[in-house]
Amino acid sequence: METLAREHPDLVKPLTLPFPTSSGRLVRGIEISRDVQVNDGKPVFVTVGMHHGNEWPSGELVMEYAVDLVNSASSGDPYVSNLLDRARLVVVPIVNVDGFVRNRRQTDTNVDMNRNYGFGWLPISTGGAAPWSEPEARNIEWLLSTRQATTFVTQHTCIQVVLYPPLQLAAGSTQDVARFEDLATRMATRYGPGYIPRDSAHDYETTGEAIDWAYFATRGLAFTAETCPNSGVARTFQTQVTDTYVAHRLAMFEALENTADPAQHATIEGKAPKDAVLRITKSFDMYTQPYSQPGGTTRPSAFTTTLTSDLDITKPNGKFRWAVNPSYRPVPPYQADGVRPNQTTFYTEPWILTCERPDGTVLQRTPVNVDLGQTVTVDLQQCTRNFHKKNPV
Ligand SMILES: [Zn+2]
Repeated sequence: METLAREHPDLVKPLTLPFPTSSGRLVRGIEISRDVQVNDGKPVFVTVGMHHGNEWPSGELVMEYAVDLVNSASSGDPYVSNLLDRARLVVVPIVNVDGFVRNRRQTDTNVDMNRNYGFGWLPISTGGAAPWSEPEARNIEWLLSTRQATTFVTQHTCIQVVLYPPLQLAAGSTQDVARFEDLATRMATRYGPGYIPRDSAHDYETTGEAIDWAYFATRGLAFTAETCPNSGVARTFQTQVTDTYVAHRLAMFEALENTADPAQHATIEGKAPKDAVLRITKSFDMYTQPYSQPGGTTRPSAFTTTLTSDLDITKPNGKFRWAVNPSYRPVPPYQADGVRPNQTTFYTEPWILTCERPDGTVLQRTPVNVDLGQTVTVDLQQCTRNFHKKNPV
C-alpha cells in the first residue's frame, strides 16, 4: 500500500485508522480515486478484509483489487478510469491485524470483532465485554461514520454467499430489501453458480456484525461476501486467491458501479465560497438487543452514533456536487424498549449542513432532507456574504 501511494499520488492516498489494536498495532488502508488528495464529495465504496484473522484469502482479494484498480487506471483503462472519476474507494485489507499476525479468528483480547458491533449486540462468549469494547470494531465505526460510504463490503471465507442484513430472523426484513437483493444477486452471479445471495439471518443467525450496524446507521448498502472454492476442490493459494480473484474483481465492479450510480445515493449541490468547508452531521441513539443487565433487569443498552463528513470547496466558481447517503434513516428493529421487527418506514431526520471557514468558524447552518436518488440544492448565500467579512452577520 505504501508503494502504491508513493508511485501514484494522484490516485492513492494512505490512511491510518485512529485506534491501534489491543496489542498496539496500526490498522492501515488506502483511498483510491482520481485526484484522490482532493476532498471532493464523490460517493464512497468501502471494502475491507480479515475481520477474522485466519481468513487470509479475504485480505488478499481486497488488496489485489486495489492493485488492479491502480494499475488499470494508470495504464489508461477507460472503464476503470471512468469509475474512479465518479467514485472513491477506501480499502483496508486487514482490519484484525493481531488476528492476522497470530493466524487466529479472534483479536488479542479473544473477541470475535464481528460480534462486537453495538447494534443488536448480545453478551455472547465471543462478543466482547461490552458493545464496541474492541478498538478494531471502533475503527470501522469511525471509517463508516466519517465519510459517505454508500456501499460497504466486508470479505470473509469460506462459504459461497453474499449476505446482507438482518442478522436475526426476529428482526424481519429491512426497508431496502429489494435493493439488497438486487446488488447481492449481481455480485453472487459474478462470483459463480454456487454462490447464494440471501439475508444473513437465513444463512445462520448471529449478532453484533458490521453489516447490521453499517446499514441501520448510514443506510449505505452493507454486505458480507464469503468466498470459497467449490466443494471437493483443494484450498490452496491458487484456488482461494488467484482463481477466485478472476470472479472477485467482477463482483467488486458491480459494487463500485452501484456506488457511482446517483440513483443509489442522494446528492446535495450548490455554490459556496472557494476554500469553504462544508460539513454534514447527525447524531442519534442506537440499541443493543435486550439482555440481562447488572441489577437484574433485562433491557437494551444505548450507544450514540454520530455521522460527520466534510467537503472542501476547491473550484474557483464554488460549485459543488456532494454524493451522500439519504438523510432518511431506516427505523431499526432494535429500540429502547426492545425488538420491534419488520420495520417499513424511515425517520425524517435531516443532515445538519454547516458552511465554515477553514479555521472552523461556522457561518451558516441549515437542515437538509434528501432522499434516495434525489438531488437537493442548498442556498448558501449567508455563508458567501460573510466569508470574507471580519465580523459575520
Ligand atoms: Zn469470517
